[in-house]
Amino acid sequence: MIAFKHSYAELPSPCFARVNPTPVSAPQIIKINTKLATKLGFDLDYFKTSDATKIFSGNSVSENSKPIAMAYAGHQFGNWVHSLGDGRAILLGEIDTPEGVRFDIQLKGSGKTPFSRQGDGRAWLGPVLREYIVSEAMHHLGIPSTRSLLTLTTGDIVYRERPLPGAILVRVSRSHIRVGTFQYFYARNDYNSLKRLADYLINRCYPEIKYARNPYLALLESIVERQIKLVVQWLGVGFIHGVMNTDNTSLSCETIDFGPCAFLDKYHPEKVFSSIDFNGRYSFSNQPKIMQWNLTQFAATLLPLIDSNVDVSKKLANEALSEISDLYETHWLEIFGAKLGIKTPNTNDHNLILEFLTAFQSAGCDFTKAFRILSELEFDAITYKAFEPIAENPQSLLHWLNKWKDRLYTLALPDLDRRKLMQRSNPWIIPRNHQIELAIQESLEGDYFRFNNLVEALKKPYKRQIKYAAFSKPPRSNEIVTKTHCGT
Ligand code: AMP
Ligand code: MG
Repeated sequence: MIAFKHSYAELPSPCFARVNPTPVSAPQIIKINTKLATKLGFDLDYFKTSDATKIFSGNSVSENSKPIAMAYAGHQFGNWVHSLGDGRAILLGEIDTPEGVRFDIQLKGSGKTPFSRQGDGRAWLGPVLREYIVSEAMHHLGIPSTRSLLTLTTGDIVYRERPLPGAILVRVSRSHIRVGTFQYFYARNDYNSLKRLADYLINRCYPEIKYARNPYLALLESIVERQIKLVVQWLGVGFIHGVMNTDNTSLSCETIDFGPCAFLDKYHPEKVFSSIDFNGRYSFSNQPKIMQWNLTQFAATLLPLIDSNVDVSKKLANEALSEISDLYETHWLEIFGAKLGIKTPNTNDHNLILEFLTAFQSAGCDFTKAFRILSELEFDAITYKAFEPIAENPQSLLHWLNKWKDRLYTLALPDLDRRKLMQRSNPWIIPRNHQIELAIQESLEGDYFRFNNLVEALKKPYKRQIKYAAFSKPPRSNEIVTKTHCGT
C-alpha cells in the first residue's frame, strides 16, 4: 500500500473537491520511470502487481487515499476566469521520499471532477507522451519541472477531432499550487483560506522563510527569484511553454503543464508554435514579460497578507516586483554567458550575446546546434564554415565569431575548460518537435520504440551519444513542425 499523506486536504474545504477517479476499461502500463520511482521510495516490484495498475488507473482507490481535485482560477491569455480547477486531474495524495521530501502524486486524465465544466476529464495518448518526454527532458536538462512517474493506456476511446486512445499520466510535483490557486481565494475575498494556503505553501516549499520578519513578503520575493531564473533557463534551451496562463504558473516554481510547448529549431525571437496563440502573447522572447505579468497577479493576491494597511502592502509588493529586471539581467547574463564560455560575464557581454543571437538569426541557424558547435570547436578551428551543415548563410557569422574570439582571448581560460563549461551549458540533444510527433504517431500504432529511445537519449542531454545521433539532428524541411496543440 502506498503511504499517502493528505496535508492539502486539511486546508479549508473551498480549496478542493473530494472526488474519486472514474474507472477505465482495460488499463495497461506502458512506461514506468524506474529511477524516479526508486527516488520516491517505491519498491519496483510493486509496479508488477495488479494493485499498482488499479491505483494508477483510478480503478481502485487505496484505503488510505483521499483523492481530491484542487480548486483554482486564473488568467487565460490575459482574460480572467473565475473558476478553473483540476478538470481532468486528481490528486491521489502526497508521499515522502526516504530523504523526507514531499511530492504530490496526481493522475492526469482520470475522469470528470466538479471542475470539468464541458470537458470529459480525459486525456489521449499524444499529450500524455508529450508531457512524459518533455517534463523528463526538462528535469535532466537541470530545469525545475514536474515529473512523470508512469503512463498507461486506459483501453477507452477519447473523442477529440477523431477517436483516440485514452491515457493517464501519473504526475509528480513538489506541489500543484499555482498562481491561479491564490487568485481563486483572493477573487472571492476568502482571506482566511488565502492565509491558510500561503502558510501551507511556505511550510511545504519555503520552510526557510517561515520565521522571516514578514513571511508573506518573503514568499513573494522567493517566488519572484525562482520564477525569473526558471524563465531564463527556458530561454537558455530554446523552450517555449506555449500557454503561460496564471493557472499554469506553479508556485513551487517548476515548469508545469506541457500542452502546446515546443523547442526552437531555427532561432527566431518571436517564434510561436501554439495553434491558439494568435497574437504571440506567449512567443519565445515574450516569456519573461509574461512571467513578470503573472508574478504581478500573484503579488496582488498577497496584499491582504503582507500588511494590514493596503498602502504599505502595495509599497512592499512593488519593491519586491521591482527586483525583476535586475534578477532577469543577472540570470540572463550568467546563463547565456556560460553558453558562450564566459564564466563571469560583465555588462559588455550583454551586447556580445545579443549580437550573437542576431547574427545567428540572420544566418538561419538551428538554435541548439549552433551553440553546441561553438562548444565543441577548438579555438583554432572556429570558423563560419563549421556552421555550413546547420545554417542557411553561415558567412554572416564571420564578424561575430571574430568578436567572440577576441573576447575569449581576454578570459585566460584554458580552451579545454572553456569547451567543458560550454558543453555543460549547451545541450547536445533536446526533445525536437518532429521527433516527439513521430514518437506519438508510432505509439498510436502500438510501436513505442522511438518513444522509449527518445526518453532514454534525453536522460543525458549534455552528452554526445552517437547511438542517438538521429534524435539530435534538426528537422529536414519536410519534417518541420509548425503548429502544436493544447493537451485537451
Ligand atoms: P490547460 O489549458 O490544459 O491548463 O487547462 C485549462 C483548464 O481546462 C483546467 O482547468 C483544466 O483542468 C481544464 N481542462 C482541460 N482539458 C480538460 C478535459 N479534457 N476535461 C475537463 N477539463 C479539462
Ligand atoms: Mg493547466
